[in-house]
Amino acid sequence: MAGGSPPLNGSVPSSMPFIDSHCHIDGPEYDVDRDEVIARAREAGVTTMLNVGTGDPHSGAFERAVDLAEKHNDIYAAVGVHPHDAKLFDDAAEQRILDLVKQSQRVIAWGEIGLDYHYDHSPRDVQREVFRRQLRSARSLRLPVVIHSREADDDTIAILRDELTGYDRGGVMHCFGGSLQMARSALDLGFYVSFAGNLTFKKADDLRNVARQLPLNRLLIETDCPYLSPVPFRGRRNEPARVIETARCLASLVGMELEEIARITSKNFGSLFRLESIKS
Ligand SMILES: [Zn+2]
Ligand SMILES: [Zn+2]
Repeated sequence: MAGGSPPLNGSVPSSMPFIDSHCHIDGPEYDVDRDEVIARAREAGVTTMLNVGTGDPHSGAFERAVDLAEKHNDIYAAVGVHPHDAKLFDDAAEQRILDLVKQSQRVIAWGEIGLDYHYDHSPRDVQREVFRRQLRSARSLRLPVVIHSREADDDTIAILRDELTGYDRGGVMHCFGGSLQMARSALDLGFYVSFAGNLTFKKADDLRNVARQLPLNRLLIETDCPYLSPVPFRGRRNEPARVIETARCLASLVGMELEEIARITSKNFGSLFRLESIKS
């Protein structure tokens, strides 16, 4: 998938800024070498990371994510109750998120929230109810939302239409793996679509076909690390520096230079989250 792009060798020019729009580097997977992981991302040209706090809302997981973002000026935070943990959602969890948003300017999105009918770690009716409640809260705070949807695309879109029609902050369909129709429905709601390392997988022709047909000005890239290491790192712990492999894949799909894809996806990130500092 290299498509004539320069190799990733740590010498990507600084004019080529990449943004990892979704990572989980606050977690225990990085406790031994988090600083090195962050340093490698910076060396590779990753200028900004959105770290998404997930897990049991009563375990301190959200605070941990916000703390990391407070420590580094190139890391932002999103917090929200993942559909896996919907059964743990309650008023206290909601209040904790509301408080963190108020306390920290580094929290720029509510998420990840949504529906996961693949794992069904929480009952589906609970997932739907918790998803709706968090969309309403995000809307009341005027925050964009980060959406996780797995094998639940019809319900996800129906709920988003119900709750967010007319909402001008939108959000992002993270780690997109759905159909072209699903992507277009999300775009119609003002959403962005983010691709992760699975775009590079050998069997992902359908997903690459979808990516090829979407408007470039609505695309983002992400690692979702520690999961979904792109080819050629598949199966190993992922990290933000590898977002470049997904950018490289996208560049070859649409026949553009890696530098252009870096520039466009970074600009999109700045637009979605209204970050004055990211406009290039
Ligand atoms: Zn997710
Ligand atoms: Zn995630």
